[in-house]
Amino acid sequence: MRTYETLDLGDLKDYDRETSTHWIYLCPFCYRKIGSEDVSGHLYVSKTKLVGLCFRCDTVVLVTHDSIEYVDDKRIIERIASEINTLTVYDYLFSCDATSEVKSFPSWKEDPDIVGYLEERGKHVVAKANELDLKAFIGTKKGVLIPVVINGRVVSYQIRFITGKKRYYTRPGPKLLYRPGGLTLSYIPEVVLVEGVFDAISVSIIHPSPIAIFGHTITELQKILIREIAPSRIYVCMDSKQLSEAVALQLKDLPTLDDLDVLSVPYKDPDEWIKHTVIH
Ligand SMILES: [Zn+2]
Repeated sequence: MRTYETLDLGDLKDYDRETSTHWIYLCPFCYRKIGSEDVSGHLYVSKTKLVGLCFRCDTVVLVTHDSIEYVDDKRIIERIASEINTLTVYDYLFSCDATSEVKSFPSWKEDPDIVGYLEERGKHVVAKANELDLKAFIGTKKGVLIPVVINGRVVSYQIRFITGKKRYYTRPGPKLLYRPGGLTLSYIPEVVLVEGVFDAISVSIIHPSPIAIFGHTITELQKILIREIAPSRIYVCMDSKQLSEAVALQLKDLPTLDDLDVLSVPYKDPDEWIKHTVIH
């Protein structure tokens, strides 16, 4: 049975051998999953996608590494920032194809714990789960996978773990933008910027264009993407007023902007606010 794991390559011994596209490791999951060690190297990890598959125990591995998981790829960011050139951004986005990776995950409905977790987050989330194409990450840890779609293509994804210590896994690469139901890079008159994907999903109940920025800083690439949307009005609604103000400050010089406002909600974050005031 195909299962999913995350793996910090720093925890592994050096790779066994390599091809031009893959590092090949002795699979650390074979013993637990099929009862015998991998002694000849069956775990193929893609050098560019940082995703792997063991051809022996059928484990799909998402590679985590602190420097990859939390820091944007500086080289790509710098290249894009230095060229601030729309064509480059579209070329870059075109190279981010996570369609087949995301397709390989089962539906969110496959696991009762994940269904329970989404119910806990609110019935509005469950109601949207199919439309948002949420998937299940089922391995030693479990989680909900949220595909990130831009211009009709799956360009990335984030996993919110429901067990274990680490809360999130984001596909390696620069931070993009998440709009529930997909983001099209063309004029959107008004957007609400929020921190996380579940904030965006919740706010989508009351606003057509909430956009998560994956944290509370805006990168150069994200700014370029926002410029493509050319909004005339932006509301910023982070988890605190201070953070919202800091984000708003970064957007001040957007040429299309008529109105830039900070929204404060009387709860921990917009997700909680929607859950407690709008849904009930
Ligand atoms: Zn294996």
